[in-house]
Amino acid sequence: MGEVDHSALYPEHGLTQSELMRSADVAMYEAKRTHSTICLYHSDSDDNSRDRLSLIGDLRAALDEDQLVLHFQFTQDFRSGRIQGLEALVRWNHPTRGLVFPDDFIPMAERVGLIMPLTRVVLRKALEELVRLDATGHRLTMSVNISHLDLLDETLPGYIETLLAHYDLQPQRLTLEVTESSLGEEPERARTRIEALRRLGVRISIDDFGVGYSSMSKLLELPIDELKIDKTFVFALENDVRARAVIGSTIELGRALNVTVVAEGIETFSNHQLLRSLGADVAQGYYIARPKCSEELDEYLAVMSTRP
Ligand code: C2E
Ligand code: MG
Ligand code: MG
Repeated sequence: MGEVDHSALYPEHGLTQSELMRSADVAMYEAKRTHSTICLYHSDSDDNSRDRLSLIGDLRAALDEDQLVLHFQFTQDFRSGRIQGLEALVRWNHPTRGLVFPDDFIPMAERVGLIMPLTRVVLRKALEELVRLDATGHRLTMSVNISHLDLLDETLPGYIETLLAHYDLQPQRLTLEVTESSLGEEPERARTRIEALRRLGVRISIDDFGVGYSSMSKLLELPIDELKIDKTFVFALENDVRARAVIGSTIELGRALNVTVVAEGIETFSNHQLLRSLGADVAQGYYIARPKCSEELDEYLAVMSTRP
């Protein structure tokens, strides 16, 4: 469970083992929510957490009953202004709660051991969408977020290889995004897996770059293709000189390493202009487009392709 100490005490927080375990779970969610390393069970946090715990039971059904859906967000090449790719963002179409966002179930899927099957569903659906778009004449790339736990999965490269062959897609059209913070935990193991994935020809991107506090020297040893600057820096760009410095140096680093630099979270025209002038390669954010379901992609692409 990492360094997080989530505690429940006998007899205040439960009389039976299962009650105590449940209270400890509630404390753990609270610790994660508040980004603290130690958290003692408190009944105030219970309502919210009870809600989450009931979701865990539904997650298996979500996979079995095909309740996961993908939305897609366009990425744009800064130089040409053209839409070049998509990022797949998973949502859970819950039978009673409606659309549940990934921050509310991915950590849970990781904790209860369901992230690996979930990742596979996402990969399959994402590649299916690429094939579907190819048939409509729109040849784009696809980025898929994978969990640091997927990097422990020795069978993932083989699965991806089979999937690419099945859909007859060139591996470089798929980018796997791993968050910087997760890479810091076990850099050696991450490196081995990343090397295996890259041998297939798929691209590797470091997502949420700049917030992970990972050792720069360790990070630079990893064979990667892309750095994706975390959106918090992009949000702060106009008013915070430090954010500008982080972005400027990430772009320089990208140049030195010969990797693509993506800026996510671009919401305004002025940020778009600024990031282009700073030299970022690829733009992503609400300014260009919000994440869209498959049908909306078609409408958007139809409009785009009729523009001069
Ligand atoms: P991420 O990979 O960094 O994805 C970007 C998130 O920022 C998405 O949120 C996206 O909707 C949002 N976003 C994009 N542009 C803007 C903008 O201009 N402004 C603002 N405020 N937000 C913007 P979402 O879809 O809620 O995903 C959250 C995180 O969940 C993702 O962050 C990613 O880490 C994770 N995630 C999403 N899909 C998957 C998946 O299939 N597997 C795994 N393991 N994680 C996933
Ligand atoms: Mg991402
Ligand atoms: Mg990100």
